[in-house]
Amino acid sequence: MPSNIVIIGGGHAAAQLCAGLAEAGQGARIHLVCEEAAIPYHRPPLSKTFLKSPDETPQLHRPEAWYAENGISLHLGDAALAIDRAARTVTLRSGAVLGWERLVLATGTRARRISALDGLENVALLRAADEAVRLRARLAAARHVTVLGGGFIGLEVAATALALGKQVLVLESAPRLLSRAVSPELSAHVLSTHRAAGMDVRVGVRTGVLQVDGSHLTAIEVDGQPQPVDLLLLGIGAVPEVALAQAAGLECADGIVVDAFMQTSDEAILAVGDCTRFPDQRGGTALRLESVQNANDQARTAVATLSGAPRPHDAVPWFWSDQGGLRLQMAGLVPAPGTAGASTVRRPGASAASFSLMHYVDAQLRCVESVNAPLDHMMSRKLLEAGRSPEPAVAADPAVPLKSLLA
Ligand code: NAP
Repeated sequence: MPSNIVIIGGGHAAAQLCAGLAEAGQGARIHLVCEEAAIPYHRPPLSKTFLKSPDETPQLHRPEAWYAENGISLHLGDAALAIDRAARTVTLRSGAVLGWERLVLATGTRARRISALDGLENVALLRAADEAVRLRARLAAARHVTVLGGGFIGLEVAATALALGKQVLVLESAPRLLSRAVSPELSAHVLSTHRAAGMDVRVGVRTGVLQVDGSHLTAIEVDGQPQPVDLLLLGIGAVPEVALAQAAGLECADGIVVDAFMQTSDEAILAVGDCTRFPDQRGGTALRLESVQNANDQARTAVATLSGAPRPHDAVPWFWSDQGGLRLQMAGLVPAPGTAGASTVRRPGASAASFSLMHYVDAQLRCVESVNAPLDHMMSRKLLEAGRSPEPAVAADPAVPLKSLLA
């Protein structure tokens, strides 16, 4: 274990890295540099329960005292401005210069913006806890909520707003919802479920800024028609934070390029989480994934590398999203539409609102998307981890527990 490790970032990857290094217990001196002034906290509740409960505060990964007890110095509300690879230092905005033996970049992503909407008081983004606090207050005062983007953020906030009794309009530019993450079949189910619940969801739309009154957006254009705006949420994707890595001369390609041990093009520097492009051992390609699971699993791989017991990263990706009455859980990566040899079987669940879509390429199980079927999701992850591919007809039979196929 190196004696001095600097971690840049305060999201799930950084928090898991701190936990893993503390558990490894080899006495490294650790500095955690986090631009947000907050102690690292869980992000998933921010688009769901947090918006519904006026008194809810962010759930911390670890209490503040835990960091000091484990030899971790927190540099909160401070940003890393430059990495000197030769001198092995990081300079912070505060002027502090931190030396490191190994450096870990966990810089994550930032929300994509629309510059014409920057600074308008009724336009919200959601990434950090302070943005969630502002959005919660604006939601309480709004009657109509317009959501730009039918991805995870957009649909989770839209479902939350609907549950709060708001009129909700979702505008997605792609021809289907969640197109980056789920199959066309699941997109269609999500669309019909939200519409049936009373959400106005439109896909394949073109939007533009129409009218601004002082610091207030009053209307946008939707397919050439004016659409009044009360509150607008932007959920139009995320871009990886690579500026620091790029300036330090590390290889980047829509993400900081790492090997299977989370090492960047400079072995002394690792990167983990949403900001990385990493080799996918299973699919044979390079991937960048935006998920809590990926952040946690990559952090574990990085701890193994730093501890001198390296093992290649080989985790089955999984995601989840709670949207009103929909609990979506995805294990593995859905084959791209049009993949040769791709086929799908539907496995019914315990009720009409519950099922799993099992996606194969040739005879190999690649991905399972579960809707309100948490047990099938858990078992699917185990099947994928074990490399098992049950016969499609067997997998689709609800009388056959997936667990029995693991034996
Ligand atoms: P996202 O999942 O990438 O979805 C953004 C969607 O907005 C895409 O479908 C995108 O279409 C669409 N879009 C882009 N520009 C648009 C425009 N001008 N008008 C209308 N639609 C537009 O990203 P996100 O929902 O913003 O989430 C941000 C980050 O939070 C991601 O890292 C996400 O994984 C994370 N997050 C995850 C979860 C979860 O896993 N449950 C929950 C919340 C947030 P194109 O793809 O065609 O650009």
